[in-house]
Amino acid sequence: ATPTAVMVATGVGATNGVLIKGGDALEKAHKVKYVIFDKTGTLTQGKATVTTAKIFSEMDRGEFLTLVASAEASSEHPLAKAIVEYARHFHFFDESAEDGDTSNKGSQNAGWLLDTTDFSALPGKGIQCLVNNKLILVGNRKLMSENSITIPDHVEKFVEELEESAKTGVIVAYSGQLVGVMGVADPLKREANVVVEGLLRMGVRPIMVTGDNWRTARAVAKEVGIEDVRAEVMPAGKAEVIRSLQKDGSTVAMVGDGINDSPALAAADVGMAIGAGTDVAIEAADYVLMRNNLEDVITAIDLSRKTLTRIR
Ligand code: ADP
Ligand code: MG
Repeated sequence: ATPTAVMVATGVGATNGVLIKGGDALEKAHKVKYVIFDKTGTLTQGKATVTTAKIFSEMDRGEFLTLVASAEASSEHPLAKAIVEYARHFHFFDESAEDGDTSNKGSQNAGWLLDTTDFSALPGKGIQCLVNNKLILVGNRKLMSENSITIPDHVEKFVEELEESAKTGVIVAYSGQLVGVMGVADPLKREANVVVEGLLRMGVRPIMVTGDNWRTARAVAKEVGIEDVRAEVMPAGKAEVIRSLQKDGSTVAMVGDGINDSPALAAADVGMAIGAGTDVAIEAADYVLMRNNLEDVITAIDLSRKTLTRIR
């Protein structure tokens, strides 16, 4: 495209909250064949809520929720935020809580959380840290099996039921024992279905890629109308999925919200960071979709198509 065409398109993009990082980015988007969507925070609202917390141990509910929330308090992941929020509500409304005075709870800057040490986020798996000098693990089956935590059949069945209904089952182990499971739901963005249909009409193939388990992934994909799903993909694996699609020369776009998606955004021909995103993601992307609206994926491709046909 000519410098003028690039300037015009960049201006139109900016008006719609679509930041285009240069002429190269604008040029490539018109021939996109695949659009890979991250699930959490991209297709979904990233505003997860806990729908169930089931305890599989002697622990009482308040104690369980405090432990899990304390561990997740250091994580930026949408699942973590949902869990902390749920526990906060529980403590706010629970009359039997420690100090018996509910009047100033909540304003007390999370005074109910326990101190933790040695926190680490394990991308694609969950988190771990020490609380009360004991190891707590919060995450998926992979995290559990890597730490030799066995999942009893009745717990596995409970997790599967959550997954069949598009929820993520978050498993909690404390001091070497499986202590409970939380079900977390993260609704689709309202425009997700329409955007998937729109892409199909434009001859673009949507694909969903996620670190989440197969069962949840399939349930969500079905809801949104995407047939091609890749689940249980570790963050580095997302870039691998992209490279394999590029092998025949296809142009691949990746839409991600940032958390763990930077390698994939960089590997894609056209990386689109959606929402406020993280600084790293914005850096790795060719487009930044500021409004956090999936319709702007179509806006971006459209803009590129129009710019490039106009100059031919
Ligand atoms: P996605 O690809 O859907 O954005 P991620 O790669 O961020 O998912 O995470 C994959 C899976 O790892 C989650 O579905 C969850 O099971 C687990 N996980 C990641 N971070 C956390 C966390 N902070 N707490 C609990 N589980 C987590
Ligand atoms: Mg994500």
